[in-house]
Amino acid sequence: MGSQEVSTVDWQGKHVTVAGLGVSGIPAARALHERGALVTVVNDGDDERARAQAADLEALGITVRLGDGATLPPSTELVVTAPGWQPDKPLFLAAAEAGVPVWGDVELAWRLRGDNGKKAAPWLAVTGTNGKTTTVRMLASILEAAGLRTAAVGNIGVSLLDAVLGETEYDVLAVELSSYQLHWAPSLCAHSAAVLNLAPDHLDWHGSMEAYAADKGRVYEGNTVACVYNVADPATEDLVREADVEEGCRAIGFTLGAPGPSQLGVVDGILVDRAFVANRQKQAQELAEVGDVDPPAPHNIANALAAAALARAFGVEPAAVRDGLRAFRPDAHRIEHVADIGEVAYVDDSKATNTHATEASLAAYDSIVWIAGGLAKGATFDELVTGAAKRLRGVVLMGADRALIHEALTRHAPEVPVVDLDRTDTGAMSEAVARAAELARPGDTVLLAPACASMDMFTNYNKRGEAFADAVRARADESA
Ligand code: ADP
Repeated sequence: MGSQEVSTVDWQGKHVTVAGLGVSGIPAARALHERGALVTVVNDGDDERARAQAADLEALGITVRLGDGATLPPSTELVVTAPGWQPDKPLFLAAAEAGVPVWGDVELAWRLRGDNGKKAAPWLAVTGTNGKTTTVRMLASILEAAGLRTAAVGNIGVSLLDAVLGETEYDVLAVELSSYQLHWAPSLCAHSAAVLNLAPDHLDWHGSMEAYAADKGRVYEGNTVACVYNVADPATEDLVREADVEEGCRAIGFTLGAPGPSQLGVVDGILVDRAFVANRQKQAQELAEVGDVDPPAPHNIANALAAAALARAFGVEPAAVRDGLRAFRPDAHRIEHVADIGEVAYVDDSKATNTHATEASLAAYDSIVWIAGGLAKGATFDELVTGAAKRLRGVVLMGADRALIHEALTRHAPEVPVVDLDRTDTGAMSEAVARAAELARPGDTVLLAPACASMDMFTNYNKRGEAFADAVRARADESA
């Protein structure tokens, strides 16, 4: 059977255990129950919210077991898990021992696509350590510009299960996949897929860098048209080489330099395609200008090239690539320009929660007052600081693990002035912005790119970014 064909499962009377009440567990349990499966939901928590959710499911005839997500119900033939559940949980060990397959929400969506009589739209998939959401949104924007019915789905707000089971018909889906989701998606075969980059992240979950890379690499398995890799990140090309793909599927590179044959790249400020053209030895197709990409920072041009490669693999015309990129606006807190005050730009990249993202962010500006710090999640900062040292006008540090960044600065950039904020109250961000403003000179950029998670001081990275933007706007109002 060709990998893109819809496989049908006879769910009638099948004993399925759904692991985890929650955004993916509840719709999964309902969908399987509607198809005649005998569903048991198991959940670690047993709080008021879980009880209310359980009551709703039980009213439909679904069995729910609260307070024990570890024990595998004896007759289980299949486990469907929430993607975040750690693979070494006893439930999965028991499933492995009993030879019971485990699927995540993505695998379930893949298996259920088309079984409601709706067209099974092909998937263009994106994974990587950083840039997934941005790239998937760029891709959806390009596909829309081409007149295709599409949506940005997956690890991005709209769940794949909702997209697949809902009534809307799609021609193609732009799918963001996390390493967790890929871990639990054994039979997923995308039309084409991209791994944007690979840097250590979530290693506590995966157990090792090798296991993390292997899960990311799953996205290429069974691709039919193109495996898109990052020329600057050879580990992504290695994953293409290791993947078992459909015959005729091509490896397509993207690069910020001039592209070779079967690559997309940049020549004189133009994004060009030397992959999806009639004669790739001699011909290059202009797609868009660097200035069409918002923001035109190097890492974001890379995202645009990856999105363009996937769209071109799907047959989208060059003009739609340009129009889609022009129409794209980045999500909040991702290199978001907040205001200019006295010739100093203030930029919110609160989403830069790890060093890899922050490295890209710092590379986008020439002279920076850097606001950083928070929860380091085991990261080290020497490489990051060494790479950015000559572009740092000054640094303002805050949050629980700020000393780690301070020590790296002392080692590698001792001449850069550092303000160390020893406070975690709600006014801390205003002070950080005020101190950064004191350090900045005309032409500089004050950049919030924390390289750390936010939860020591804020509910999440959105709140941290909002606190920054509020403080900046208050200063802009004062100076107006
Ligand atoms: P993800 O969905 O993978 O978390 P986002 O598009 O939300 O990615 O971007 C997350 C952060 O990563 C942003 O702060 C941005 O600065 C940074 N980033 C975006 N694209 C890249 C890239 N290609 N390489 C490195 N960092 C990137």
